[in-house]
Amino acid sequence: MSEVADNLRRLRSEIPAQVQLLAVSKRQPHERIQAAYDAGQRDFGENKVQELLDKVDTFPDDLRWHLIGHLQRNKVKFVVPFVHLIHSVDSLRLMNEIEKQAAKIPRIIPVLLQLRIAREESKFGLDQEAYEEVLTAYLQGHFPHIELKGLMGMATNTEDQAQIREEFKLLADAYQDLRERRPEVSVLSMGMSGDMQIAIEEGSNMVRVGTSVFGPRPV
Ligand SMILES: *Cc1c(COP(=O)(O)O)cnc(C)c1O
Repeated sequence: MSEVADNLRRLRSEIPAQVQLLAVSKRQPHERIQAAYDAGQRDFGENKVQELLDKVDTFPDDLRWHLIGHLQRNKVKFVVPFVHLIHSVDSLRLMNEIEKQAAKIPRIIPVLLQLRIAREESKFGLDQEAYEEVLTAYLQGHFPHIELKGLMGMATNTEDQAQIREEFKLLADAYQDLRERRPEVSVLSMGMSGDMQIAIEEGSNMVRVGTSVFGPRPV
């Protein structure tokens, strides 16, 4: 599994120091994730709650697990005890459920709001109106057990670099606006294996990288 360590070394040399590398371990076998851990990687991203729960206990406690995929409300209670950052908050109802479950523990859960920036219809995320609604409720203090850390988004899966750049610019603009209203916000999660260079050029400070770290996901 030394290729995982090699990939990480190469990526870390390519990525500017202020950009955090999140290793997306979904569907990857245990040995490859362990190899990344052994190479010093601590932040890992998963997109499915069940798969995340299956993995958590098989790794050391100091891994930081990020949830990057769509989160169903009935699964919130399973992740709030340990999740490091939820990247994919895409509705007011999900915010309400995270608040409710976090208050029970109690724990303050760091989250990102996922904005829909892609033109393609299939991607999850808040549209402009829903984003304003969630943000307003947050700024009014409705979620004492949630800490808003920033924004996340996914560009359209396309070869058209100009389009990807345009979509990342939308997200980066929203992030700058948010920072004016909330200076403590610090995370802009954008970019994956195929588009991380453009994302970094447009201001990303957290890239979510699966394939370029671990190789192709087994099907
Ligand atoms: C799978 C996934 C990634 C990583 O994709 P790669 O192309 O393998 O780098 C990033 N973000 C999200 C939300 C994902 O689901």
